[in-house]
Amino acid sequence: MPDSKTIGSDFMKRFIVIFVVLFLLIGLTGCSDTLQPVDEPPDSDGKTAEDPGEDIGEQQGDKKDEIDLQAVKPNEAGNIMVIMYHEIGDKEGEWSRQWENFKKDLEVLYEKGYRLIGLKDYLDHNINVEAGYTPVVITFDDGTLGQFRVVEENGELTVDPHSAVGVMESFYEQHPDFGLEATFYIYYPVPFRQREYIDYKLKYIVEKGMDIGNHTYTHENLSKLDPQGIQYQLGRMVKETGDYLPGYQVDSLALTFGVNSREEYRDYVYSGEYEGVKYTNRGILLVGANPALSPADKKYNPYKIPRIRGTESPNHSTDLYDWLEYFEEHPDRRYISDGDPDRITVPEGLEDKIDDEKLGGKQLRIYNPEQ
Ligand SMILES: [Zn+2]
Repeated sequence: MPDSKTIGSDFMKRFIVIFVVLFLLIGLTGCSDTLQPVDEPPDSDGKTAEDPGEDIGEQQGDKKDEIDLQAVKPNEAGNIMVIMYHEIGDKEGEWSRQWENFKKDLEVLYEKGYRLIGLKDYLDHNINVEAGYTPVVITFDDGTLGQFRVVEENGELTVDPHSAVGVMESFYEQHPDFGLEATFYIYYPVPFRQREYIDYKLKYIVEKGMDIGNHTYTHENLSKLDPQGIQYQLGRMVKETGDYLPGYQVDSLALTFGVNSREEYRDYVYSGEYEGVKYTNRGILLVGANPALSPADKKYNPYKIPRIRGTESPNHSTDLYDWLEYFEEHPDRRYISDGDPDRITVPEGLEDKIDDEKLGGKQLRIYNPEQ
């Protein structure tokens, strides 16, 4: 009977109601201020990570939300693929990727939780992808027509949607979180093979946030050159690019034929000067066939960055799809971002891989992946 309620239990009920309301209010306010949902980082078995809401940090004004380390499993000591493409066109081949297959590569990378970063950000270990995702770098050598073809119609220029730039742009429109990053390692006199559009294309690439890299001035074999020849090949390429893109820094080199200079001339590959124009290569890319190391890894060498082929040749066992499979089987080898470019997070047991000198002032966080 209602009348039989004691004052005590009424008080308790009110107390509980007030407590529950307060609890909900605090909870909701906390979420709306600090919760940024982590977009379902895929596990190796395709499951998604749990809602990180419970571990959200409490500091107001702290821009970086705390993540659930055990759910996201960041591993910033892991490997990063730097993918190498040459021709993009109608046919598949040793050095050519059919354009629809190139599009498929982007789709597969996206579905498997990879997100684009620029090579400059890789060199800086400035990994700005969402927590739980794996950075990946795309590079193109030789500046072929299929990488960037422009079509003129009624005085208007449009990017051929079947060229690499066209494919990447339309994919980016549909998947803005994938990013639009690539470095084009070009040589002269006619990068991308349409003389009248060199200026348009180089400016276009940089305006879109993509990059130009050095592939020597005339696709020369560095091992056959003396210091003067090396500086001509690397410096003239930078000088010419600077004429189109004043102030733009070309600061990485993809070795032509995968071959570096003679050992005693190596300093001129790292930096030099041609006709008053100085150049520096912070990163040097190989042709060879492995994923690259985390830039914080003790064994990381920016002058020897391996790349993997963006092809599916039956003659290789080290193409892009072989490595994608490898990372499915060895998820612990894969770089997984913590979502915070200023902090390097590694699971216990891998901290020995990290070189403190290579942290560049970033904070190192080690966590137990099990609890
Ligand atoms: Zn080349």
